[in-house]
Amino acid sequence: MKYGPETYLICSDCGGELIHRPLVAVDARFATLWSDGYVDSPTVPEQPLVARCGHCQMAVWLPELAVNPDGGGDACEYQPLTLAETQSLLDHHVSQPSDYQLHLRVKLWHQANHRYRNDSGPGVDWTEAERANMEALLAILDMHQVQERLMATELLRQLGQYESASALLDRQFEGMALDVVGLLRQQLDQRHQRVFRCQLDQGADTCRAADNR
Ligand SMILES: [Zn+2]
Repeated sequence: MKYGPETYLICSDCGGELIHRPLVAVDARFATLWSDGYVDSPTVPEQPLVARCGHCQMAVWLPELAVNPDGGGDACEYQPLTLAETQSLLDHHVSQPSDYQLHLRVKLWHQANHRYRNDSGPGVDWTEAERANMEALLAILDMHQVQERLMATELLRQLGQYESASALLDRQFEGMALDVVGLLRQQLDQRHQRVFRCQLDQGADTCRAADNR
C-alpha cells in the first residue's frame, strides 16, 4: 500500500480544509471479494466517496471538492459517516435516481450484509428498512449494464426471489462476469440467501477490478 502526497480539499459547506491522502498503489493479495461487491482487505483502507467534514460536520462528496494547492494550515481529517448519517443523507437524494442515491443505497446494503459475513448460519432476517432499501436499489439499477444486472440478481437472491434472480442470468455473459454468474447459479440452486465470498479464478488483480465498479 502506498499513498500519494497529501492534498487539501476545501469543504463545500464551511470552506475548511480537509486532508486527503490518495492511495496510489495497493497490495490486493489478501482482499476478499463478496457477492454484494463489497471488498474487505486487511491492507487496503477504504477510500470513501462521501465523508463528514471534520470542521462543520456536514456530509461532503470528496471527489467534488476543490483542492487548495497552498493549503495545509488548518486542515483536519474527514470522518466516516455513521449509518444514521448515511440514511439521513440518502433522504436528500431519494426524489430521483442518481449516482448519489445509488452509492448510498449500496453502502447501506453492504452494511446490512456485514452481520452475515462472519456467521455461517443458514438464513437472513432483514429489517423493514433494510428490505425497503434493497427493493429501492433494485428499482434504480440499469439492467443493460452487466455489473448492475449482476447486482440486481444478488439483491433478488438475498430477498429470496429466486425465480426472478435466475431470469436475469438468462443471457450471454463473458469474462469475469461469467465466473460470477456461475457462483450465483450455485447459490440460487441451493436456495441460499446469504452474502458469500467469491473465489474467482482470475486472482487478486480481478478482485481489485471488482472493487472499483
Ligand atoms: Zn465543513
